[in-house]
Parts: sequence; structure tokens; C-alpha cells
Amino acid sequence: MQRYSLFSLLGHALRGDDRWPRAWRAPEPKKSYDAVIIGGGGHGLATAYYLAKQHGIRDVAVLEKGWLGGGNTGRNTTIVRSNYHLDANAHFYEFSLKLWERLSQELNFNVMYSARGVLNLVHTPADIDAAMRRGNAMRLNGIDAKFLSRDEIAAWIPRLDCSPNARFPVLGGLLQPRGGTVRHDAVAWGYARAADALEYAHRRNVVHRDIKPANIMYDSLSNNLKITDFGIAKLIDANRTRTGIVLGTPAFMSPEQLEGKNVNGHTDLFALGVSLYQLLTGQLPFRGASMTNLMFVIANEPHQSVTSLRSELPKWLDEVVDRALAKSPADRFESAAAMAAALRRAA
Ligand SMILES: Cc1cc2nc3c(=O)[nH]c(=O)nc-3n(C[C@H](O)[C@H](O)[C@H](O)COP(=O)(O)OP(=O)(O)OC[C@H]3O[C@@H](n4cnc5c(N)ncnc54)[C@H](O)[C@@H]3O)c2cc1C
Repeated sequence: MQRYSLFSLLGHALRGDDRWPRAWRAPEPKKSYDAVIIGGGGHGLATAYYLAKQHGIRDVAVLEKGWLGGGNTGRNTTIVRSNYHLDANAHFYEFSLKLWERLSQELNFNVMYSARGVLNLVHTPADIDAAMRRGNAMRLNGIDAKFLSRDEIAAWIPRLDCSPNARFPVLGGLLQPRGGTVRHDAVAWGYARAADALEYAHRRNVVHRDIKPANIMYDSLSNNLKITDFGIAKLIDANRTRTGIVLGTPAFMSPEQLEGKNVNGHTDLFALGVSLYQLLTGQLPFRGASMTNLMFVIANEPHQSVTSLRSELPKWLDEVVDRALAKSPADRFESAAAMAAALRRAA
């Protein structure tokens, strides 16, 4: 999947914009899926994206009778805000406003979020009371809110008729500076493209080969884990595979990787098992005084069970870790999604 950037836009513009790859696939339907979503609007496509991203469910079909983003989402612009009075609403919409603020970066698609401020005008003394109450409630919930007088509004928006002769005379207004607009159909397209891209690495058989805690980053802004450093990642392709080359961090390497054999997704799952083991027990499952000794231990010795080191941990963790650390790739989880599902099920 091509990443959009200033350089890619410029490059395509200079070549007449005629070589853009498809932004998402339109494949032939399969006999079955893990989930089928009816409707390719903002909600349907966002669901497909978060199913893949947060729940590891990637075999998902989105069925659309018209065109993606052509429903209500197809209105050109939508207003986004979190200017609500009740606590539950305020927190819910504040969560979504924060999603909007970083959505273009996350999806690598310009949804044209513009935090130009959302101003609700008031026209009666009772409206002033309600707007001030709402503004106070927002501020108590940590959300930006400001009550503007008629004069402040007139100075800010000179084209607005703030005179007493206006059809609905303006008495003031409640402003949320971080509120704004987004281009609505672009949101659907951004989710469509990003949901499709999540399948990309998997479909193209990319193996990371150096999964370890130092390459797993926690992004506190998005509350997500990210895998970094694809420096030695490789494509599994029988025609291009070269055996006999050992790359990676020895303590996290699987038996087949240490032997310089062909690697696949199961190799990364082994390294993930080592990382999980270290996270749970504070120590590595396989240790050796020398590289040769470590290689022997990884290839032949069983690891100590997690619960024998930390008796307060639940027994089911042993099953998950043991399966991830199986010596033979065929005995490990069939996919990262299956391992995630096992952890989630048991938790
Ligand atoms: C005039 C107006 C103004 C609005 N203003 C705002 C606003 O300012 N801020 C805001 O947050 N929200 C606003 N909304 C609400 C917001 O637009 C909708 O909540 C949102 O777009 C709904 O998204 P959706 O994905 O659920 O539906 P849609 O975008 O309508 O998508 C549904 C899709 O399903 C497809 N479909 C339907 N039936 C089938 C079928 N049987 N098989 C296959 N496909 C099917 C349709 O073709 C369509 O593409 C507004 C709505 C309207 C109408």
C-alpha cells in the first residue's frame, strides 16, 4: 500500500496523476468470513478497521450497494465537537474528538479535520443561562469552553449581523475552540484504505524477525502498541529466500531462525512468546553462558513454566506461553490473531 506524503503527491502530479494504485481492493466474494458488515459508510468502514486493528479480526467483508462513503457520510462536511452538558455524553464525544484530531496521521489519509472552533449562538436570556451551565459542565469535565459576549462575536465574525435589528438578535455564544469540521466522505475512504492496509503485511507475508520488548512501543496518545524496527524484516518468498543467514537478537530467536532455516510468521510468534515470558516473569525463558550454549538450550531444552516462577499468575498463561514457545513452528499458534484471541478468551 503506497503511503501518501508530500513527495508521493508531487511525484504523481509530475507524472500526470495516472499511475496511482487502487486505494483498496474490490476482491471476488469468498464463501465465508469471520464478519460481514452491511454498508460501506463511516460506521461500517470504521468497524472493519477497528475489528482488524484492535481485535485481530481481519477476515472481514464490507458489502456496499452503492459506493463507499456515498450514504449520509457522503455529505461534504460534518461538524465535530464535544460540547455536551451531561457527563456521559461529554466523555463519549471528547473521546471521539481526540480520535478526529489524530485521524489523518493514523489513517495516512487527509480527512481535512479543521479545528476552526464551534460556536453556538444564543438568542434569549434563558439560552444564556443554559449555555453558561453547559460551558461550566464542560470545563469541569476538562473540555475547552468559552462564553463569548455579543461584542466579542461581532469582532470575531464581522460578517455576522449582531445588531439588535437582526431577525434573531444575537446575545452571545458558547465557543468550543477545539471543535471543527471534517470532510465526511474522506473519513469513509480513509478507513477503507487503512482497513485494507492492515491486511497488507499479512497478505504480503512480511516476517519481522526481531520481535523483542525493545521493538514494541507503547503509544500513550493512541493507547496502542506499535512494532518498530523492520530493519531486518523479510518477505517470505521461496524464490527469494536465502537460508543459512542468521539475523535477530539471539535470546528471542526461534530454533529454526537460529539454524538459519526459512522463517515465517511462526518465527515472530516465538519471539512474541519470549517477550510475553519476560514481561510476566522478569526473566528470559532460555539462557546460556555462550552463544553456542544459548542456541543449544533454545533448540533442545524446555523452558520453566511461567507459573512455577510466579505462582500468583493464572494457569492458563502457561498454555498460551508454552504454545508460543513450541520448538516446532507447526505446534505454535497458527497466526498472531489466534494467539491474541487465546489471550483475550482466557483473560
Ligand atoms: C443532514 C445531516 C446532517 C448531519 N450532520 C452531522 C454533523 O454535523 N455531525 C455528525 O457527527 N453527524 C451528522 N450527521 C449524522 C452522520 O452523518 C451520520 O450519523 C453518519 O454519516 C452515519 O454513517 P453510517 O456509516 O452509519 O451511514 P451511511 O453513511 O448512510 O452509510 C450507510 C451505507 O450503507 C449502504 N447500504 C444501505 N443498505 C444497504 C444494503 N442493504 N446493502 C448494502 N449496502 C447498503 C448505503 O448505500 C450507505 O453507503 C448528519 C446527518 C444528516 C443526514
